[in-house]
Amino acid sequence: MKTIRRINELQELIDRNKRKNQTVGFVPTMGFLHAGHLSLVEQARKENDIVVMSIFVNPAQFGPGEDFEAYPRDEEHDAKLASEAGVDVLFMPNRDEMYPQNGGIQILPGAQAASLCGATRPGHFDGVLKVVLKLFNIVDPDHSYFGMKDAQQLAIIETFVRDFNLRTKIRRVPTIREEDGLAKSSRNVNLSKEERLVAPVIQKALKNGELLFHQGVPVKEIEREVANQITNNSSGLIDYVSLLAYPSLLPYTPKDKEAIIACAVKFEKTRLIDNIIMSTKG
Ligand code: AMP
Repeated sequence: MKTIRRINELQELIDRNKRKNQTVGFVPTMGFLHAGHLSLVEQARKENDIVVMSIFVNPAQFGPGEDFEAYPRDEEHDAKLASEAGVDVLFMPNRDEMYPQNGGIQILPGAQAASLCGATRPGHFDGVLKVVLKLFNIVDPDHSYFGMKDAQQLAIIETFVRDFNLRTKIRRVPTIREEDGLAKSSRNVNLSKEERLVAPVIQKALKNGELLFHQGVPVKEIEREVANQITNNSSGLIDYVSLLAYPSLLPYTPKDKEAIIACAVKFEKTRLIDNIIMSTKG
């Protein structure tokens, strides 16, 4: 595995590989790797000649008072895991390399960013799209891999690629979980012991919501029920629990083929998100 910190150097390497007609699979991450990230690599490995992973904790997607500083980092361990998983090129730029100047140009997502994390983290998806566009232009990937754990991010990026004719194909990868059902996340290390013990209630409550959905219970009632189950069984504070159509993220109507039930829960030092995508009769 080759570790690269400079954009120019990565672009030269990609150009050399493209001249040999090699396909490029791309896995963008913020590091502190876990089995969720590695499952993206596994899928990328199967479908491409070379696999590029980026690790960059993107300041543009963190709001004031969010956990940019406290976001866990461990470059050395990440490099070991990435190499073992079959990453060919690990791109780890620093902040100045990615954002040497601020030209002030913004990318504004549309209606899909108005709900869920877009509503509670203003500007978050502007920052995500900014870094994703830069990375796509740098890596020029044939296929790019994103986890369903960040289902809103994935839906917005799919729209971005479609609306702006970006040349990469987006691949959806299912959420990888701990044995007790908690979605794997780099942020899980910032949970206290007690919080870690109760955090699996998030997925339990969402599963219960899914059951109620298939029983035809009204959306508002499901959202209330899921939120109550989480608050009654943990110290977590509900940021949101929402049931919407997927991937439009508009209010759910029985005509929609897929729905999402998603939540964000705030613990003392960290905020966790999770979701379940539910197919409907449409
Ligand atoms: P992050 O490093 O948290 O920005 O995540 C990088 C990529 O890994 C994103 O596409 C995430 O959706 C994906 N990802 C994070 N956690 C998981 C998980 N538990 N299962 C599958 N993919 C994940």
